[in-house]
Amino acid sequence: MKRTHPLEVTVALALVTLLVSFVAGPVPALLLVVVAAFVAVPVRLRRSFRGESPEPTSTTVEISPRGVSRREAIKRLGVGGAGLAVPVAVGGPTLIDSWKAEAGAATGPSGRTRQWGMIIDLRKCDGCQSQGTAPQCTLACIEGHFAPEPMEWIQIYESEMEGGGTQFIPAPCQQCQNPPCVNVCPVTATYSTAEGTVLIDQDRCIGCRMCMAACPYDRRFFNWGDPPVPPEAVLADYSAEHQVPARKGTVMKCDFCPEMARAGTLPYCAQACPNDAIYYGDLEEDVATNGRDVVSFSDFTTENNSFRLKEDLGTQPRVFYIPGHGEDVGRDPHDEGRLPTRWPWIERVKGAVTWRR
Ligand code: SF4
Ligand code: SF4
Ligand code: SF4
Repeated sequence: MKRTHPLEVTVALALVTLLVSFVAGPVPALLLVVVAAFVAVPVRLRRSFRGESPEPTSTTVEISPRGVSRREAIKRLGVGGAGLAVPVAVGGPTLIDSWKAEAGAATGPSGRTRQWGMIIDLRKCDGCQSQGTAPQCTLACIEGHFAPEPMEWIQIYESEMEGGGTQFIPAPCQQCQNPPCVNVCPVTATYSTAEGTVLIDQDRCIGCRMCMAACPYDRRFFNWGDPPVPPEAVLADYSAEHQVPARKGTVMKCDFCPEMARAGTLPYCAQACPNDAIYYGDLEEDVATNGRDVVSFSDFTTENNSFRLKEDLGTQPRVFYIPGHGEDVGRDPHDEGRLPTRWPWIERVKGAVTWRR
């Protein structure tokens, strides 16, 4: 209900008083003012006791769907004067990041937020040559996420070593702590979480592929066509932490499987490695495991001269590598080549059409 503004009341009272003083003289007019004051003061007191503003403002406040006023949201997002749909991602984490991160961040026994990290022991990786199969980590990740061909969220590169021979280097998303992909996304579809992972929200992704151009590790993939969806994924409850089912026109990548870690299991890739080369753990609690051995994250990486890919770029990856070429599992570095990756789940989808990267 519209309330009368005090100014309107004052003007009306002044006019009435003027009229009365002209018609009946100054004494009745003075009496009228005194009576009006006696009536007005109790009304203000009653409103005050009810907790109402005695002088309601006329400002209109728009409430956003999340229960935060549009003005407040814009202020906290740091995009003064612009709409919420405009680019807001340049720089550090935003309110949107906090909402998403706070929703699912896990804490360790010490009460501190988990900081997921990975160690890949190249001394144990032989590209699955000893298994006579394509790399098992890649296959398990593909099968676990129904990743469309040609996506290899963890890709096994074969790299020449100084002095001859080759080594295999499994490369998931490096989960950079200074991620170029996040810094360029114009709609905050890709973002860092409180647990230190970098995710993509396909609900927000507009397919501009700027993140793909920015990633120095080539760890992002685009859905150029309608991705095949197997029956078991049709009703999947989509989440940025699992990215199932895939969607045309959006970018995908390794999500670091934080929901599996919170549930107490290792990511698909670590579970599947026949040589236990992949350790996953929490930097905050300083612990990592490959499912068989439990190690101190810091001691294991420091004592074994770990390195990170393209460290000089300042991206601060969360994936650490122990140097090696499969020597712990008997691989001859001159035994080159690995079997090509396959996407077995796609064969189960009738009429599936895929694309080239
Ligand atoms: S590896 Fe690429 S996609 Fe992953 S966080 Fe780093 S820049 Fe982003
Ligand atoms: S951590 Fe998860 S998403 Fe990343 S490569 Fe391993 S299985 Fe795939
Ligand atoms: S990390 Fe393990 S599963 Fe992956 S290629 Fe190396 S040996 Fe095979």
